[in-house]
Amino acid sequence: MRATSSTARPSTRLRQSTHHHRSPARCSATPVAAAAAHNAGVGSKTLTSWLLAQEKAGAIDLPLVTLLSSISSACQRISSLVARAPIDGGTGLAASGANASGDEQKKLDVLANDVFARAVADSGRCSVLVSEELDQPVAVSSSGGYIACFDPIDGSSNIDAAIPTGSIFGVYAEGECVIDPDADAPDALVEKCLTNARQSGTELVAAGYCLFSSSTVLVLTVKTGVYGFTLDRTMGEFVLSHPGIRIPDPGQRIISGNLGNVLKWAPSLQAYLSETVTNRPDGAPTYSYRYVGALVADFHRTLLYGGIWLYPPDSSAPSGKARLLYEVAPMSLLAEQAGGLATWGPTAEQRVLEVVPSGVHARSPLFTGSASEVKRLQQFLRTHK
Ligand code: MN
Ligand code: MN
Repeated sequence: MRATSSTARPSTRLRQSTHHHRSPARCSATPVAAAAAHNAGVGSKTLTSWLLAQEKAGAIDLPLVTLLSSISSACQRISSLVARAPIDGGTGLAASGANASGDEQKKLDVLANDVFARAVADSGRCSVLVSEELDQPVAVSSSGGYIACFDPIDGSSNIDAAIPTGSIFGVYAEGECVIDPDADAPDALVEKCLTNARQSGTELVAAGYCLFSSSTVLVLTVKTGVYGFTLDRTMGEFVLSHPGIRIPDPGQRIISGNLGNVLKWAPSLQAYLSETVTNRPDGAPTYSYRYVGALVADFHRTLLYGGIWLYPPDSSAPSGKARLLYEVAPMSLLAEQAGGLATWGPTAEQRVLEVVPSGVHARSPLFTGSASEVKRLQQFLRTHK
């Protein structure tokens, strides 16, 4: 299902200029009213009221409203923790040193993980949680509920320099991880939870991220399009700011990826990059290169400006670097819901959402962005095998 709202936000200024010959009163009144009708709810509709409207329309059920509200509260708290870290002593490495995936673990990774885990557990609507910072899935409730997967802080290697970071989450359909202490040996329990949590992205019921940057933005899909909510700190609430997001297509000519790895990429991909940034055929304009190194930040720019983001396999990371359950799959659902593509494979033609993870921390390559950009990549890789 695609978003029902229109694809582009109207430009009030543009409309005003087309009516420039009319009286000033008319000039200011008509476009503002039209813009208000078009962008119903922008600046006034809260995330809570939006979620309840989705429930009323039958897109989601009340337990999911509760869980997503809890996740948004966690995002608010983590946003404060991140913002205050330099004055609260929250920067630097955690005592543990590294997480389950072998990444450096920062103090904020640990703090944010606790905030997220407590929020989804307290919602009472989560059966199993999976976190980048936890070795194994955790059984939360024996009475059922959704499966919540999250990266509490994405881009945490940037965090001590106040570079944008974020939290990513994916919610899978209700599962069971029934705790029966008499019948279940701990290993069997873990295996049950693992199996329940190991689902392809097509089974996601909701996905999103919070970006902690000049503003804190929560971008969410419940498979009725993609909606962005900006944290209004005076109200303490997320307010609808980006209704019906569609990845611009054609978008801005931007390519994003870790060029530090380029010599480890397949030759065809190196040729694609070279053509894109330095030597377009027929003198077509070359692309700008933009890379923050936090998936949330780079993805958010791609969602709003278009272009392409890639983390291909390389000789030292044959499955790429990003994790399926709580990074690649949620972003892929957002990309598809916004009219873009999210793919992997030798010619970038396989849908990431159809990959069943081999484990909760399994990785996947990802090519995502404006549909026409991903198709251009596919075409290039097909002809340069
Ligand atoms: Mn991450
Ligand atoms: Mn992380």
